[in-house]
Amino acid sequence: MLYVVATPIGNLEDITLRALAVLRSADLVAAEDTRKTAQLLSRHGITKSLVSYHDHNESRRTPELMQRLQRGASIALVSNAGTPGISDPGYRLVSAAAEAGLRIVPVPGASAAAAALSASGLPTDAFVFVGFLSKKAGKRLTQIKALASEVRTVILYESPQRIVALVAELRQALGDRRAVLARELTKIHEEFIRGRLSGILETLQDRPEVKGECTLLLSGAEPRETPAWDEAREDIRRALELASGGLSELARELAHKHGLPRKAVYAEAMRIKAERIKTDG
Ligand code: SAM
Repeated sequence: MLYVVATPIGNLEDITLRALAVLRSADLVAAEDTRKTAQLLSRHGITKSLVSYHDHNESRRTPELMQRLQRGASIALVSNAGTPGISDPGYRLVSAAAEAGLRIVPVPGASAAAAALSASGLPTDAFVFVGFLSKKAGKRLTQIKALASEVRTVILYESPQRIVALVAELRQALGDRRAVLARELTKIHEEFIRGRLSGILETLQDRPEVKGECTLLLSGAEPRETPAWDEAREDIRRALELASGGLSELARELAHKHGLPRKAVYAEAMRIKAERIKTDG
């Protein structure tokens, strides 16, 4: 049995009773940083044999841990903070265990992404977790541009050293979107900076340095700023020029063609028509 166990992202009390029970009863704990996990365990009076499982030994360690799992051992996988596998090691082992048909049990708890989103005030109905963007400037810009038409709330992780540059790049590439910077979640200096990217940038630039862990949330593109809407508007203008057919039939056709809601396309067609009448006198 492989348990995927979430641990705190700051406040050490953010660990579930079930997580502690699993850590206490597992045969082995596979930890990103054994020293850090040993401290957490000792705080809860747990002594356990620990084995390291991190970015640099994941591929070597996975077969070893798989062997132990297949011989019947129960292993608890933990990372330094939050949920394993979420911008953290874990994927390889979980994927290998799934492929081998072993039972994998999530023991949920803290994750910076969910904590930040839940208190952000940005739309939570649909969101995209992106995690860390590339450190390479060119690749990062391509990744940012790919987010331009994303209408869902975007969640990004970034280090305090690079957060100012990231906010500036996002502002430049995507415009002055609404955003929230969640810093030091669950810790003494927890802070939410809400506003537009420009305002967040100003706040950060006023500080001698940005400290602590940062999660940045970006509101999605206005649905009507997406390429599908641009194309639909062009089609509407063309149809109005040709004066071909009625608006409701046009809206039905274009909604189908561009995958947009019919009522919204109809409203947009009405707006464009009214605009044309006004400018044509
Ligand atoms: N597995 C973790 C989780 O479930 O959130 C994420 C690990 S990832 C290596 C670390 C990044 O998560 C940090 O650089 C930061 O972007 C974000 N993060 C972690 N703890 C945080 C906190 N207390 N406040 C804000 N962001 C945090």
